[in-house]
Amino acid sequence: MKKFDAIIIGAGQAGPPLARRLTAAGMRVALVERHLFGGTCVNTGCMPTKTLIASAYVAHLTARAIEYGIVLGGTIRVDMANVKARADAVAANARNGIEKSLRSLTGCTVFEGHARFEAPDVLRVGEELLSAPRIFINVGGRAAVPSMRGVETVPYLTNSTILALDRVPEHLVIVGGSYVGLEFAQMQRRFGASVTIVEKEARLIPHEDEDVSAAIRDILVREGIAIRSSASCIGLAAHERGVAVSVDCVDGEPTIVGSHVLLAVGRRPNTDDLGLDRAGVSTDTLGYVVVDDHLATTVSGIWALGECNGHGAFTHTAYNDFEIVAANLLDGKSRSLSERIPGYALYTDPPLGRVGMTEMQARAGGRRLLIGTRLMSRIARAIEKGETQGFMKVVVDADTRKILGAAILGTGGDEAIHGVLDIMNAGVSYDVLERAVPIHPTISELVPTTLSEMRPG
Ligand SMILES: Cc1cc2nc3c(=O)[nH]c(=O)nc-3n(C[C@H](O)[C@H](O)[C@H](O)COP(=O)(O)OP(=O)(O)OC[C@H]3O[C@@H](n4cnc5c(N)ncnc54)[C@H](O)[C@@H]3O)c2cc1C
Repeated sequence: MKKFDAIIIGAGQAGPPLARRLTAAGMRVALVERHLFGGTCVNTGCMPTKTLIASAYVAHLTARAIEYGIVLGGTIRVDMANVKARADAVAANARNGIEKSLRSLTGCTVFEGHARFEAPDVLRVGEELLSAPRIFINVGGRAAVPSMRGVETVPYLTNSTILALDRVPEHLVIVGGSYVGLEFAQMQRRFGASVTIVEKEARLIPHEDEDVSAAIRDILVREGIAIRSSASCIGLAAHERGVAVSVDCVDGEPTIVGSHVLLAVGRRPNTDDLGLDRAGVSTDTLGYVVVDDHLATTVSGIWALGECNGHGAFTHTAYNDFEIVAANLLDGKSRSLSERIPGYALYTDPPLGRVGMTEMQARAGGRRLLIGTRLMSRIARAIEKGETQGFMKVVVDADTRKILGAAILGTGGDEAIHGVLDIMNAGVSYDVLERAVPIHPTISELVPTTLSEMRPG
């Protein structure tokens, strides 16, 4: 039995910075990783997808070059092998950097292998037994494969395996019209694939407001992406040209034949093979580790951070989990999950920046609301860039004057949303932002104007 002061399972977004803080505090730390250092974000999530999206953006702009007065000579084509190589290199660089920094970290011992609990303070990694009074679970999640008809009979892609393609699919059918599916849909369409999105709900990204969802649908349809919503009873079957996806929609062909099918129907936590029952750690019905406001599990001395605790499916939420745990354990602070104001982006082009409640959620709370909206086509910077799709919307509590949430769907929306996020974090009324003097010409510049033009909603 090898004894440590702390064991971290997973080298994703919370594990490595936590290893650095714990060792700096003088603890002997074991960090166990079973696959790729850097986890989902670095290897199969944010980094490769945003790198591919950047290539897709260039392809898209190149096709629009003439609109900007730029004349390109010769044939423009997408060299998918090189596009992939660029994404692979970005991911590999980050992965290697993380691995190197962990292996050279004084006080940290890296174990490669699958960790499984034997007891609340004991983990098995292959032949080794490791023990510590503090164990941090940062095991992340993986693509969920739904038990839909025929799924076991066809080759399908997930967000991980699609990254291995070095040729553009002829016709990519994407099952799932939410965040991951939409990013791949637009990217692959811009690379030249025919793309069909199959979504079982009546609209795309159904957690977002209807106006946001409809605007994104329009953007995608305008680029030639086919959308089959309200698809009930989705099933897969082998076909001589690839995979037949039966959609049984209200209208349109009942079956779509794609050369490839991507399953983008959500994620599941990597907790089913951790031996959590041997430690007595509780999970919810979906397998997420149950944690309190400080990320402690139901067993003293064990914490769960990142996607596996079900309180955020993002890199920044996993990192914030690390910050909460480190501050409470090492700095004598009392930070908690409930302080976190949710923010995220959908990296379609234009992107959607989101913070706080949707209008739908705010209405459900029964508050008196003030709502401000502005089309991107009425924002100078968007007009100058020739990127006028989308709109911004801010939702305010009319009584407290606090901003409840916002959506900025438009060029630079992923950045501009931070002005609103910061005001919400400051806990002040919207008046502070309304009186700010932003820089011209920017997208952020019109947030104060939108606030000044709000109406009762
Ligand atoms: C296609 C896609 C795009 C995304 N884009 C974004 C984005 O733009 N922005 C954003 O914020 N988020 C994005 N995400 C989400 C983001 O990648 C994850 O939320 C984030 O990586 C979660 O971090 P984590 O530390 O919880 O887990 P992970 O990063 O998944 O790390 C968990 C690690 O634990 C290891 N592990 C698991 N089980 C064991 C075990 N038993 N023993 C040892 N090791 C184990 C795994 O191998 C993995 O390395 C995206 C996700 C996907 C799928």
